[in-house]
Amino acid sequence: MAGFLGYRCSVCDTHYGPDEATYTCPKDGGNLDVVLDYDHIRDSVTLNDIETSNDHSIWRYLPLLPVDDPGHIGTVLRAVGWTPLLAPFMLREKLDLPHLWLKDDGRNPTASFKDRASAVVVARAQQVGAEVAITASTGNAGAALAGMAAAVGLPAVILAPKSAPPAKVAQLLIFGAKVFLVDGTYDDAFDLSLQAAQEFGWYCRNTGYNPFTAEGKKTAAFEICEQFSVATNDSDGKRWQVPDAVFVSVGDGNIISGLHKGFKDLKELGWIERLPRLFGVQSTG
Ligand SMILES: *Cc1c(COP(=O)(O)O)cnc(C)c1O
Ligand SMILES: [Zn+2]
Repeated sequence: MAGFLGYRCSVCDTHYGPDEATYTCPKDGGNLDVVLDYDHIRDSVTLNDIETSNDHSIWRYLPLLPVDDPGHIGTVLRAVGWTPLLAPFMLREKLDLPHLWLKDDGRNPTASFKDRASAVVVARAQQVGAEVAITASTGNAGAALAGMAAAVGLPAVILAPKSAPPAKVAQLLIFGAKVFLVDGTYDDAFDLSLQAAQEFGWYCRNTGYNPFTAEGKKTAAFEICEQFSVATNDSDGKRWQVPDAVFVSVGDGNIISGLHKGFKDLKELGWIERLPRLFGVQSTG
């Protein structure tokens, strides 16, 4: 939090202080990137501090996150991240890719990568004193918000298109979220959630809108570099390792941009020397 300087618009490059913007650029609606004080971070934490942390979750990277420690030891927020980097031996042979690794984010509390974003968004919501959190979602983002919000007793409202998979809607209900099935597309649910957030003063988690989602998602890049340095055994524990390429499943593009931000943070800090090539992958249709 001490290293949180504010935001930079990805379209017009305008800088905003922490209290001068909330979601998107007030001028042009562009996405905001969180700006960190790298000098301050470099002075206050070392790679060794992080490597020796007993916190096996995204919170081991707290000095690089724009939120305060959420506390709530032992709750769901504390169980997000530090997912295993797996060596899939049979898949390596089958694909003839001997250096393939898999980051298994299905191990997160609500079973998707989205928990990283929702944990940081909920920490932010606590800080700004939000009384309700809302998001539009086709499934996983809503489940992650519902789960993380439940962990801190924050009411969650999820707007899902009526085509959302029933199993996903069930997961939202199990976490105690208020679910509205919108008679329209995801985009309709998205627009409606912005209106509700504006009208009722609720805190909005929407992907591609709230800048704290990418800050949560970037923690996977930190983990990849830290775990990869151990897995490949190339370093003496000093330098974190960067894979040649990272393949990311893409919808809105928030995960891939979050990963990019994470690798960029590490490079700015001088903790890695180069960025990996990032490949976005989508299924047909
Ligand atoms: C959300 C999601 C994606 C796409 O993420 P974006 O940030 O929208 O690009 C891909 N795969 C799974 C399983 C997801 O839940
Ligand atoms: Zn702008």
